[in-house]
Amino acid sequence: MNEDVLSLEAISKTYNAGKPNEVQVLDQASLLLKRGEVVALVAPSGAGKSTLLHIAGLLDTPDTGVVRIDGKDMTRLGDHARTAARRRQVGFVYQFHHLLPEFSALENVVLPQLANGIAARMAETRARDLLQRVGVDNRADHRPAALSGGEQQRVAFCRALANAPSLLLADEPTGNLDPVTSDQVFAALMALVRDTGLSALIATHNLELARRMDRMVKLDEGQVSMVLS
Ligand code: ADP
Repeated sequence: MNEDVLSLEAISKTYNAGKPNEVQVLDQASLLLKRGEVVALVAPSGAGKSTLLHIAGLLDTPDTGVVRIDGKDMTRLGDHARTAARRRQVGFVYQFHHLLPEFSALENVVLPQLANGIAARMAETRARDLLQRVGVDNRADHRPAALSGGEQQRVAFCRALANAPSLLLADEPTGNLDPVTSDQVFAALMALVRDTGLSALIATHNLELARRMDRMVKLDEGQVSMVLS
């Protein structure tokens, strides 16, 4: 099994190339994430964190450079194969939960599995197990509007992990929560990640949370560099 779950090799990305509002966001950015490693991505707003996460998660393509997930070059895949790889291998969590409002917490974790061809009964068993691990199994039948902010994010973590990806990408996952809830929800996320042996790249402004990860990297002038904590 390949030990580098995510490999970003000399990724460059420019928006509005050749126009007056051209902005080069990434300039030969490189990053390796080993299996089971949890890395904090720390940088000010506008530095390119979301762009980097979108490229790593196959939601966007780089102008140049290579993205490998589980050792496989994803930059050469066509749209269909890239979407399939993303669905199987990558989980996303955002600042806002983005749960489907008309479905229960359980259904929100079951649906991505059905879309991935998992049988309904197996999908439900896995969803209940995930919800239980983050302490919201007693909210399984509630719709998102009936959940607290912290509970919504816990369910969003379960949804991201529903298809047992090898890589979790998170963009300020506790950014909308008050400090106490943020701390608890982050601990739940870390426990879930450690439990499943997942690799994670987590963008955050919160240095205290960043220090609880395995290491920290920053984005500066379009390049990724290590931060010594
Ligand atoms: P961060 O997540 O660190 O706040 P982003 O990756 O969202 O940074 O954005 C980095 C820079 O790229 C910003 O200057 C932003 O305005 C610009 N940008 C992001 N997406 C686009 C886009 N689709 N078109 C043009 N400019 C963009």
